[in-house]
Amino acid sequence: MQRVVIVGSGCAGLTAAIYTARANLEPLVLVGADQGGQLSLTTDVENYPGFPDGVMGPEVMENFEQQAKRFGARLEYETVVEAELKAGGPQRLTFDSGREIEAEALIIATGARPRWLGLESEEKLKNKGVSACATCDGALYRDVPVAVVGGGDTAIEEALFLTRFAAKVSVIHRRDQLRASKILQDRALNNEKIDMCWDSVVDEILDLEKDEVTGVVLRNVKTGQKRTLDCSAVFVAIGHTPNTEAFKGQVDLDESGYVLMPQAERSFTSVDGVFVAGDCADHIYRQAVTAAGMGCRAAIDCERWLAARE
Ligand code: NAP
Repeated sequence: MQRVVIVGSGCAGLTAAIYTARANLEPLVLVGADQGGQLSLTTDVENYPGFPDGVMGPEVMENFEQQAKRFGARLEYETVVEAELKAGGPQRLTFDSGREIEAEALIIATGARPRWLGLESEEKLKNKGVSACATCDGALYRDVPVAVVGGGDTAIEEALFLTRFAAKVSVIHRRDQLRASKILQDRALNNEKIDMCWDSVVDEILDLEKDEVTGVVLRNVKTGQKRTLDCSAVFVAIGHTPNTEAFKGQVDLDESGYVLMPQAERSFTSVDGVFVAGDCADHIYRQAVTAAGMGCRAAIDCERWLAARE
């Protein structure tokens, strides 16, 4: 029986690990399929406090991990596929390896993953020009036109980042107004390399026969008119899906799959002794720093919950 198990190794999970480790709870962190979470997939992180010149995503996550280990956190490279949760515990987890463990207290910090358009051509051309991470793959497309799908902060941030490399960046958005914050909108709309394709959706990504991206078939949702836009890469930035499948039916989730927190400002879930932190419970902020803050809250709530049982 483990005292505290933390599922996930992103900003939320590893911050929870630092705090519970410093409380002498020797947490076990289950790293999962995406070690270091979403920040590990990015290059420059410019909005994490304490780094005036920015920091590389993988580097900062390596630091999180070292800091957690320094205080006694243990990391295991397991992915949870099934959970049996009950009020007061023990919480039982099954890994993809078939192994099972039990925990007195559990912190769910499994994060979220990028959403895709759902086109067959998108699936077939993934890693052949279709990507969900401009910061990971953008530098591969120098001096060629590229496209970004979406109108939120992620899409616009990615479009701005891509202007460092690409000849032209077309932002394809299904409405005629961006959802992104004003400062990003202003930057994008004033950037001569960025071209907006308003009221447009991608019907198909070309070219399956060539096995590489050569363009997209766009459809104007207001007129129904179709046209082909030439580009060498398509970056899909239309939001995220929480990684909570293993906990479905065991803890209350909202209709999109985010873990519900019944008490505002607290990390409690619908199951006594199960806490939550980070993007798997947050569809509003989704920032590294907010995930870390939630990890801290979950660790403190968890520590107090365990202390109250003694
Ligand atoms: P988001 O805000 O949910 O935006 C998703 C965008 O994709 C929306 O413009 C949406 O269109 C569009 N979309 C969704 N499904 C689509 C589909 N099937 N086909 C075409 N378009 C589709 O997601 P996000 O941009 O990833 O941002 C998530 C959160 O992180 C937000 O709270 C954001 O503020 C935050 N964030 C902040 C920063 C920053 O502060 N620097 C950076 C990145 C993200 P509609 O607009 O029509 O719904």
